[in-house]
Amino acid sequence: MAGFVRVVDILDGAHDGAKVRVRGWLYNKRSSGGIQFLSVRDGTAVVQCTLNRRDLGEEVFREVEGLPLESTVVLEGVVNVDERAPDGREVSVASVVETVAAMLDFPITKQEHGVEFLMDNRHLYVRNPRIQAVMRIRAKFMEVARGWFRDHDYTETQSPMFITAACEGGSTLFNVEYFEREGVYLSQSWQLYAEAMISTLGKIYTIAPSFRAEPSRTRRHLSEFWHLEVEEPWQDLAGITAVGDELVAHIGHTLAREMPRELRLVGRDPEDLLALETPFPRVSYDEAVEIVQSEGVDMYWGDDFGWQQEGPLTKRFDTPFWIVGFPTGIKPFYHLPNPERPDVTMSADLMAPEGYGEIIGGGQRVHEYEQLLSRIDEDGLDPEDYSWYVDLRRWGTVPHSGFGLGVERVVMWMCKLDHIRDAVPFPRDMRRIVP
Ligand code: ATP
Ligand code: MG
Repeated sequence: MAGFVRVVDILDGAHDGAKVRVRGWLYNKRSSGGIQFLSVRDGTAVVQCTLNRRDLGEEVFREVEGLPLESTVVLEGVVNVDERAPDGREVSVASVVETVAAMLDFPITKQEHGVEFLMDNRHLYVRNPRIQAVMRIRAKFMEVARGWFRDHDYTETQSPMFITAACEGGSTLFNVEYFEREGVYLSQSWQLYAEAMISTLGKIYTIAPSFRAEPSRTRRHLSEFWHLEVEEPWQDLAGITAVGDELVAHIGHTLAREMPRELRLVGRDPEDLLALETPFPRVSYDEAVEIVQSEGVDMYWGDDFGWQQEGPLTKRFDTPFWIVGFPTGIKPFYHLPNPERPDVTMSADLMAPEGYGEIIGGGQRVHEYEQLLSRIDEDGLDPEDYSWYVDLRRWGTVPHSGFGLGVERVVMWMCKLDHIRDAVPFPRDMRRIVP
């Protein structure tokens, strides 16, 4: 019995009937008669450990009984399959090897706490098993996404976080004090830099933070979020949305297969994700507006979808779906206007079902020099600010497309979370920057 076993492996049945050594933090405890039930969290999951006064003797039993929550324990015992235990398995403790008592009064107790209290204590609340499960799913998400890109011949590359030219509109830019220089911001997207890198690396992706000074308080906006972005040369709208289909379905299927216990713990039936089928439906922007209107929600052709519109729209679907062809007037200058219908762009957003809304925004880019200059002009932007970007159209420009996927948005949907703040360990929004 060398070393320690992982709690998650106990729960998965790897040690049934075996003698094991477990270490972890005392997450919860209760006692009844001569038995104590300790919930021990080891960084992989939480397992119930049962102590019997008769077996351990009065002194040891008392010592453990006096341990405050979040004390650390090292226990030895046998793994029993027992339907009454929370995950169908428990450790029947034969000896208490070591304990280190925490201080009294861990602030998070079994009682109901308000959201503000839990957010003020986020540094401690991250120990909650639900948050733990989401963060493990999030980690797997990143790993699976990287694996998919590797298998499909994409190269990972990075763009700077300090930037000078906006690409998603000036209203959500964070200003940065950058030595003596004015007009420096935090990156909203890697997009413009990605377009430079495709000419040297071909198909590329990144997983990096993006920053948006979102003034609105919604359940799905953070001011710092993780952005998975893709860019490809010789790619059109149909091709890039197919990439989105395959990537999202692959992530959903793999999470369902590899993390069913964590998904169930957070309230998502893994079958929902296994059922993802590609290609996801395509709905034109025009049709989507009509659906929203038919739901009795205010919207006119030419408006963008806010959560008031996306909620009722996506509740109608039990699969992700693309909205294709957004009006040119509401998309940034780099979106390619449809050659057959210039009032709309070759763009598409992927909507998650069940009211979750937008998880991907993307499309085909303007690749011709003259057209790019006139789009910059029409958007009232200063071409000087984009001079290096315009250079990309002078030498070796090709049709190209890409998209950005919000990692927390997808985690939120796949984990069925009510609020995006629980998809990231330390959320940042308009009101919260501590802890
Ligand atoms: P929305 O309309 O939902 O505010 P957007 O159209 O501004 O999003 P894009 O610029 O298309 O977003 O960014 C690409 C993706 O990044 C979005 O589809 C979304 O998944 C994610 N994203 C954008 N803004 C945020 C944010 N503030 N917090 C979390 N994720 C975001
Ligand atoms: Mg968008």
